[in-house]
Amino acid sequence: MSRAYNFSPGPAMLPESVLLQARDTMLEYGDAGASIVEISHRGPEFIEIAAQAEADLRALLSIPAEYAVLFLPGGATTQQALLPLNFADPGQRADYVLTGHWGATATRQARPYVDLNVAASSEDDGYRSIPPVESWRLSDGAAYVHVTANETIHGVEFRPAAPGGHAFPDTGDVPLFADFSSSIASEPIDVSRFGAIYAGAQKNLGPVGIGVVIVRRDLLERAGQPRADIFDYRLQLAADSMLNTPPTWNWYVAGLTFRWMLEEGGVEEFARRSDEKAKLLYAAIDGSGGWYRNEVDPAVRSRMNVPFFLPDPALDAPFLAEAREAGLVGLKGHRVVGGMRASIYNPMPLAGVQALVDHMRDFQRRHG
Ligand code: PMP
Repeated sequence: MSRAYNFSPGPAMLPESVLLQARDTMLEYGDAGASIVEISHRGPEFIEIAAQAEADLRALLSIPAEYAVLFLPGGATTQQALLPLNFADPGQRADYVLTGHWGATATRQARPYVDLNVAASSEDDGYRSIPPVESWRLSDGAAYVHVTANETIHGVEFRPAAPGGHAFPDTGDVPLFADFSSSIASEPIDVSRFGAIYAGAQKNLGPVGIGVVIVRRDLLERAGQPRADIFDYRLQLAADSMLNTPPTWNWYVAGLTFRWMLEEGGVEEFARRSDEKAKLLYAAIDGSGGWYRNEVDPAVRSRMNVPFFLPDPALDAPFLAEAREAGLVGLKGHRVVGGMRASIYNPMPLAGVQALVDHMRDFQRRHG
């Protein structure tokens, strides 16, 4: 077997121990007499898996009791459409802050349902920064304010804990909703600062096909808009996220991943590892004499997704081919930005980032 270091943005690398457990239960789950993918979501085995997954996620993220946790099919984009349906009256104001591609995507999901106000945007500088909070044009009476905690493509992250890093704003009585798809569980979050946190699982939480929504319970009392049962967070909560057949396999593997993160030392430990990995990679870029470039404002550089450019796009293909030879995959940048991107989520070990940095130095030496 020759598993490479996988820098893919999502679906992304999973811990080997999780994959091995998933493999072992594929044929037969415990003494169920059937595969994990064959058992009913209403049976005792799966009810236990679901309950354990929620308990582990609550422990991992220190989720207060007054917050509900939903496990829902589909990814983050689905939640971007469901949030306005559940929490905004028809045509009510909602404020969006755009710091990259995914914030803009969120506006396209919400626009049919709300009076959408772009309260701030860094589009004019190519999404390389976060506009200072003082410049945000927040609306009175907005249903919520939406931000993207980490922009996976542009590599821009709110860093409340970092010196000089950009904090999340205090939005007073208006709840703050945050897309944490690509940075959840990579450092402690003060959940109580948010009305809702959501994430697709396929980066830090497990496999694609399932999303997590953490929402303050009192917000579920809001009427929202006419919506089908299946889009109704309240009904999903009452049904333990099983209003219909849930993606049981994805939920199970996400649960294994939560357990792995707890056993590794939890979010404090992943914050430490993430800082170490990101520092190593940014130092290699910044120390290359301008040969490699990351153009994001250093105060808001992402610890999870590191976009970088070579001096000539003609070098991209050989860089990727030689990376593959060196056992490094998934480094091609997103088409809207170009260049390279290294996604270094929780399962990526420091040794993987070191191998990438070694490849970068070697490649520069030979092609520089
Ligand atoms: N938000 C962010 C921050 C993302 O990184 C992504 C996916 N890369 C999405 C939303 C969309 O997620 P999904 O494909 O799960 O709908």
